[in-house]
Amino acid sequence: MAKKKSKSASRKPARTKSSTGRVKAAKAATRKPTKRSTARSTARGASRSAAAVVAPPGLATSQPSVRSTTPVAAAPPAATVRESSRVRISPLRPKAVFEPQAWMAEALREARQGLNEGGIPIGAALVDRRGEIVSRGHNMRVQLGDPTAHAEMICLRNAGRRRDWSELILITTLSPCIMCSGAALLFGIRNIVIGENQNFLGAENLLIQHGVKLTVLRDPRCQELLKQFIDAYPEVWNEDIGLPPPPDDADHDDGSDAGPEK
Ligand SMILES: [Zn+2]
Repeated sequence: MAKKKSKSASRKPARTKSSTGRVKAAKAATRKPTKRSTARSTARGASRSAAAVVAPPGLATSQPSVRSTTPVAAAPPAATVRESSRVRISPLRPKAVFEPQAWMAEALREARQGLNEGGIPIGAALVDRRGEIVSRGHNMRVQLGDPTAHAEMICLRNAGRRRDWSELILITTLSPCIMCSGAALLFGIRNIVIGENQNFLGAENLLIQHGVKLTVLRDPRCQELLKQFIDAYPEVWNEDIGLPPPPDDADHDDGSDAGPEK
C-alpha cells in the first residue's frame, strides 16, 4: 500500500511536465501516421501519453489497448521474446535409449534366480525410455502355486500403479504367452524385447497385429537355460504352458509333483 502511494506521487510531477508531450501525442494522433512519426509516438508518446492519462493506478493497465491500435509493427515486448525462446528450449526430453542386450542380461539374472528358487527359469524386466529398470520379475508358478505367476505378470505387478506403460519396454527371456501378451496389450505396452522363441512361441502374431514392436534377440543363453530345464522337468514345463498330461500319466496323477527340487 505504501509503495503504491509513493508510485502515484512520483508520477504526478511527470504529468505536469509532460503537458507538451501530451499535446504532441494528441497532434500525432490527428496527423497522418508516417513511419517516423508513429515510431516516435510509440517509443516516446506511448509511455508519456499513458502517464498523462493516469489518475487511478488501475487505469494504467489499459495502456496496451492504445498500443495495439497503432498501425506500426512494433518489436514484441521483451517478455514475449523471452517466453518464446524458453518454449523452444524447455521441452527437451531425455533421449530414448535402446540397449536390448544389456536389458536381457537383467532378465536372465531374474531367470537364474527363479531356477535357484526351484522354479522355471524365465525372467522379465521393464525399462523406461532412459533405459533404466523400472521393475523385475521371474516366473513364480512353482514357488507360489499360482498358475498366473509368469515372469512378465510378476514384472508388471512389481511396476505398480502407473500411467506411462506406453513408454516402457518389456524385456522377457521367452516369447510371451497369450496371457502375458494380453496383459501387455491391456496396458498399452508398445515395445517388447524377446530373448528367444525356439522353446516356445507365444502370441507374437497377436502383438504384431496390435502394432507392438517386437525385437527377438535369439539369445543362446536364454534358449539353453530353458531347454535344460524342459529336458529335466518336462511335466512342470507342460503344466506351465497348459498342456494336459498324457492319458497314461493322468491315471496315476496324485498331484504330488511340486516341481523340481532345488
Ligand atoms: Zn506368460
